[in-house]
Amino acid sequence: MGKEKKTMIDEIELYVQYAVQEKDLEKARYVLSLYKDNERVLRLIREYYTILPEAREEPIHKLSCLMEQGGVGLFVVVCTSYSYLYVVSVEEIVLLGEYREDVPLELLAFFQYSSQDAFLKDCPAVEELVAYPRGEVDTASICPACGVADGEEHLLGCVVELCPWCAGTLSKCNCRFEQLKVEELEDESQLETFSDLLSAKGRIRFCKEQNLAYPGTSEGLDIVEDKKD
Ligand SMILES: [Zn+2]
Ligand SMILES: [Zn+2]
Repeated sequence: MGKEKKTMIDEIELYVQYAVQEKDLEKARYVLSLYKDNERVLRLIREYYTILPEAREEPIHKLSCLMEQGGVGLFVVVCTSYSYLYVVSVEEIVLLGEYREDVPLELLAFFQYSSQDAFLKDCPAVEELVAYPRGEVDTASICPACGVADGEEHLLGCVVELCPWCAGTLSKCNCRFEQLKVEELEDESQLETFSDLLSAKGRIRFCKEQNLAYPGTSEGLDIVEDKKD
C-alpha cells in the first residue's frame, strides 16, 4: 500500500475513534475499508470525520457520487440519520449542507441547472442512492486523484499527471522551477505562468492504461498492488 494512503488511513482511523461512539466504530471502519484504494474518497471521509457537521457523532453508512463534471464531483455522505452534500475537487472538499436542501447558485450554474427545483429532481431519496464504486474496475477510467475521465487533462496539481519535460511525476519533479527559472514558487501568478508553459509544451492527458500501470513506485498510490488484498 502506498505510504501516503497508509498514513491517511491511519489518520482517519484516529479521527473516527474521537468522532463516533463505540457502538458505531465497526460501521465507520467498514465503510473506510471499502475505499482504502481511493485517495479521493479517503480525502472526503477524512474531511467528514475531521469536522463533523453540526458535531453530530454519526458514522458514515454510504457514499454516493451524485454527479461529476470536469473533475468536480458532488458527493452525498449518508450517515445514520442525516445526509450531507460535499463538493470534491483536487484542491478542496467543501461541505455544502444537508442533502436535498438548496445549494449555492454557482453550483447550479456549474452543473447546468436552471433552478433549485430542477436540481432537486436529480437528487434521489437517500435509500435509492447508488453507493460509490469501490476502487475496482469501474473507477479505472477515472483518474484516482483528480477525478477526470479517460483522455482529459488532469486538474493542475494532480499527483497522477506526468511531466511533459522529464516524464516524471509533475507534482514532484523540479521542472516547474527550471521552467520558471526560480528557486521556489511564491505566488499565484507563477503558477499561472507555469500552467501556460505547460499547455504550450502539451500536457499529458490521463489515460486509463496509466491508471492500471500506476504507479508501482513507493511514493505513489499503489492501486494495482492494493487490489490484490
Ligand atoms: Zn489526475
Ligand atoms: Zn518534470
